Amino acid sequence: MQPSDLTDPQYIHDIKDDIITSSVPIASTREDCCELSIEDNLLDEEEVLDVRALNKLYHTDEFDQGKELNLHSKKKSIRVDLTYARSAGPIVEMSVRKLNWKCYKAPLISTNRLPCSIHWHGITHEEHIIPKGCYVSKFCGLGELCYKKNLAQTLSRMKELFPDEFSFHPNCWLLPEQYEEFYVHTQEHPKPNKFYIVKPHEGSQGEGIFIFSNPKDKVSLFANPSLVQEYISNPLLLEGTKFDIRLYVLLLSIDPLEVYVSRSGMVRFCTQDYHKPSIKNVHKSFMHLTNYSLNKRSDEYQYTDEPDTGSKRILTHVLEDMERLGYDTDLLWDKIDTVVVSTLQAMSPEIQTGVQAAIRRGELPSVDSCFQILGFDLLIDDKMNVFLLEVNSHPSLGIDFDELVPDKPGVTKCIISQVDIDIKLPVVSCALKLVRKRQKKGPGIPIETPYDSVYKRVSPDLMQEQLTLLEPIANMFRQFLKRDGVTIGSSAFRSFLRNYKLSPGLISTAEADLLFLKATRSYVSYETNTINFQQFYFVFYSLAKSSYKRDSKLENISLLIEHCMGNK
Ligand code: ADP
Repeated sequence: MQPSDLTDPQYIHDIKDDIITSSVPIASTREDCCELSIEDNLLDEEEVLDVRALNKLYHTDEFDQGKELNLHSKKKSIRVDLTYARSAGPIVEMSVRKLNWKCYKAPLISTNRLPCSIHWHGITHEEHIIPKGCYVSKFCGLGELCYKKNLAQTLSRMKELFPDEFSFHPNCWLLPEQYEEFYVHTQEHPKPNKFYIVKPHEGSQGEGIFIFSNPKDKVSLFANPSLVQEYISNPLLLEGTKFDIRLYVLLLSIDPLEVYVSRSGMVRFCTQDYHKPSIKNVHKSFMHLTNYSLNKRSDEYQYTDEPDTGSKRILTHVLEDMERLGYDTDLLWDKIDTVVVSTLQAMSPEIQTGVQAAIRRGELPSVDSCFQILGFDLLIDDKMNVFLLEVNSHPSLGIDFDELVPDKPGVTKCIISQVDIDIKLPVVSCALKLVRKRQKKGPGIPIETPYDSVYKRVSPDLMQEQLTLLEPIANMFRQFLKRDGVTIGSSAFRSFLRNYKLSPGLISTAEADLLFLKATRSYVSYETNTINFQQFYFVFYSLAKSSYKRDSKLENISLLIEHCMGNK
């Protein structure tokens, strides 16, 4: 099958079961491994090795001089490991073939692997050792950071300090713990048509979401762990309906931060005309929620491969329509780019900490081993303000969906979505090209975006002030990390307070213990008696507030940083 046939539905069905699978012998000695044809990450197709032996080899200085070791190459090809690609498998395979590279899927129950330049992991790091020079499609810990509650806290902490720059994040409160704060807010800012939206922490695809105006009416429902957010009640409408944008973002490096925003994306429309929220219509999910998973249940849902009709459309076509209607789409892109880069800057201390821990555990060879495609869900209001609703750490890269067969209750058939292919194929193939370019150039060296890329590089230095504020706090935190971990325990926390002359002095030991305990409860995580950077920041911020009591939160934090730097 030629690359030009990539979108043939039969081909797509076939490749789902047809990803190259091979059984390979083990290279038992270092000498075997050194015979490998590895040069500049172009790996020879015939060579095989055991992944543990490979890792041992890769982590020596000897391998760093690989070219001098006469690692001559024979037939060079870039190989992408899809063993753990899961539902992303078909689209990644199509992309790899489009690039004339090779796909590889390891046999089940085997540690043997053909060496691959790029490892595509569908959900998390499922294979724990990534050889030097190779890239894996996930950053450690980024998935957890994208949970609704954790992302909300990351962005809220920045919004408290930089309200204008982070105004794209609707005000929100965590339930049940911030119920009182939320209630006070509603009383202090009473607005007749003010609505709020509640989203369960564990929910996705619109499940369990409800919209309300008066918290007193819903108080019994606030005991469930969830997030309550100001409802954007004036969304921009097209053809009378509300829509949101799923945008793909390639995070290519975390240190330095290297972010590419895809110009290709998906627009998801509601299936019922929009009306401002009212007590009478807030339950109408087809009017207020744009989720595909909900709206596909509506009789009005339009499945079509036509670019400018249908409930799911290609972003570029929608933007063309908007231009025709007189909207300034260049300005819109500037706003979108700023939202994306600001969000990733806010997340970067935690991502860096996660990557460094994975390096210490030996799972990653270096900081420049990861990339990730993220899904940013954005809402635009009628004044062209952009709001961030959610960041998906593993956005769906599937290209098919199940449809009920008419007259056969309960029977479904799998349909290939051409719209999904049109959107996701360039997103994945251009991401792979950029990863490859980065791999060849090495970390930090500027790379040019390929001419046919859908991605635009977005400069992170727009927000230097925010970074310089987070960095010293993150550096202090990292000094006390648990070995190989991303959190600190209570005794390390006490050492931090002593080392920086914070306790006794600014805070008593008993108060510090209490603050630590409170922080352990403020994050959704597997570890319950330690704190990660976000929780540490919460403690630092509380300490700054109680110590300096200035009106400006930024000033409090800056004073505490100054105190710490003066007492290191
Ligand atoms: P989920 O993960 O369950 O999809 P989202 O945060 O994406 O949760 O919300 C689901 C839908 O609800 C969004 O796609 C959007 O249409 C709508 N929505 C979410 N938050 C807001 C908000 N603050 N204002 C207006 N609409 C919102």
